[in-house]
Amino acid sequence: MIEISVILPIFNEAPHLNELYTELRAHLLELKSSFEIILVSDGSTDGSNELIRQIASNDDSVIGVILSRNFGHQAALMAGIEKSQGGYVITMDADFQHPVSEIHRMIQAANDGVDIVNMVRVGKAQGGSFKQLASIFFYRTMNRMGEVKIEAAAADFRLMNRKAVDAFLSLKEKDRFTRGLVSWIGFNQISLEYIAAPRKSGNTKYPFRKMLSFAGSGFFSFSSKPLRIAFYLGILISLLGVIYSIYAITQYFLGNTIPGWTSLMIVMLLLGGIQLLSLGIIGEYIARIFNEVKNRPVYHVQDEYQKDS
Ligand code: UDP
Ligand code: MG
Repeated sequence: MIEISVILPIFNEAPHLNELYTELRAHLLELKSSFEIILVSDGSTDGSNELIRQIASNDDSVIGVILSRNFGHQAALMAGIEKSQGGYVITMDADFQHPVSEIHRMIQAANDGVDIVNMVRVGKAQGGSFKQLASIFFYRTMNRMGEVKIEAAAADFRLMNRKAVDAFLSLKEKDRFTRGLVSWIGFNQISLEYIAAPRKSGNTKYPFRKMLSFAGSGFFSFSSKPLRIAFYLGILISLLGVIYSIYAITQYFLGNTIPGWTSLMIVMLLLGGIQLLSLGIIGEYIARIFNEVKNRPVYHVQDEYQKDS
């Protein structure tokens, strides 16, 4: 029986991987519980895979999972969670930003009967002010529109007990926006604060492009309000159209021939813009439906390393 599973998604984290593993292992040994460490390489190309193979071949508490390409952080988390066997499952970043020293507090909370412990960053986040502003804007909008509430400083640094993990895995969607899904399943959740450390080495593996697609998953998978907004916009513009038509017809019968270029341009551009916007919104949902319907797996495992004990 394994008590604690710790899952680390790894995308090119080779320079500090050994150090992280050593620190994590030392910390887990102090807890005097049985544990497993699941290292999930999400298509790393910098030698992380080889390191993972070495670590796993020397330590039977380590499982190395090598995905066949870069499927994204959320998919890597899913791969680790599906592999895990522990009564408590902890996910954390592999760049030292989530301090291993917080693990005992998380476990204490779980021992006190909490099902899910969400770690929430305090203090300044890393990654520049633009990234922060974008993130604040996203969570505000999301919390206003969506069916789940997510704290703006939430991270994928969290503990779930087996009951919560089973519920989480029972959600079958392919588009895994973990923090939204975790919020959706409910259970007894608490938030604990932690101070994020700076990234140990290398750059963020979340460039703006990945952040946008992450935000898109959160937004469109957890709210259908954008569709309604498109509908309301349609009603509003139609109403304005009717009013303007009445004006135009009156002018016609009064014999006023208006030059009309400006008004025509405005109407054309406005209508065109709103139609494209609405189509785009519908398109987002159709693309997501298409993705779900294809029913492809969330990730593919290429290699798995585990020392036979
Ligand atoms: N990560 C991943 N696949 C990706 C991007 C990131 O597995 O496509 C991992 C990465 O190795 C790290 C965690 O997800 O362990 C969080 O990424 P990062 O620290 O770069 O994000 P940030 O903290 O800058 O938001
Ligand atoms: Mg990080």
